[in-house]
Amino acid sequence: MRFSKLRLTGFKSFVDPTDLIIADGLTGVVGPNGCGKSNLLEALRWVMGENRPTAMRGGGMEDVIFAGAATRPARNFAEVALHIDNGERLAPAGFNEDDNLEITRRITRDVGSAYKVNTKDVRARDVQMLFADASTGAHSPALVRQGQIAELINSKPKARRRILEEAAGISGLYQRRHEAELKLKNAEANLTRVDDVIEQLA
Ligand code: ATP
Repeated sequence: MRFSKLRLTGFKSFVDPTDLIIADGLTGVVGPNGCGKSNLLEALRWVMGENRPTAMRGGGMEDVIFAGAATRPARNFAEVALHIDNGERLAPAGFNEDDNLEITRRITRDVGSAYKVNTKDVRARDVQMLFADASTGAHSPALVRQGQIAELINSKPKARRRILEEAAGISGLYQRRHEAELKLKNAEANLTRVDDVIEQLA
């Protein structure tokens, strides 16, 4: 699985459709302060399912939508599409039939986010699991934001362990365990209710 292109439309400062081609080897992004370099990294996190506005340096999720400028009105939606070269068939099961994957996330004002994988509607969870199983994702230790190294040095052992687990690709398993535990709790609550009903009938 290799990221090959990121397309941004109406996302933060990228009001017009903009392609970032991720070539083989090293891709560098250079530019003056405030030109949008960090916004590119945030777009990558966002399309992989990031749901914390603070991680997007915003107060709410809709803050990622182009807010307008002196000469341009604000937009009503933002969209980011991540193109993935899956020629080597390394995508997790369920997403591994195609040579190319296109993951799209769109947020519309007052509506919220919608995700697609190759034009098929999917849930946020599906996209998050796809990347978690591929040992990457919005919280991947491969994405290092400004100030993060200092945070890491000062962080507690538990937070540091999470980073190692993310790198080892087991965070998807934790998510599945959490969901299984919730189902188990529901089943136990249902059983208690059945016991009550049986008692009443007896
Ligand atoms: P530096 O080198 O200083 O870290 P940078 O190149 O990483 O800068 P960013 O922080 O990515 O730049 O971009 C900041 C720019 O994005 C600012 O000009 C800000 O006004 C603009 N911006 C952020 N959110 C929005 C939005 N919702 N609508 C329009 N512009 C936005």
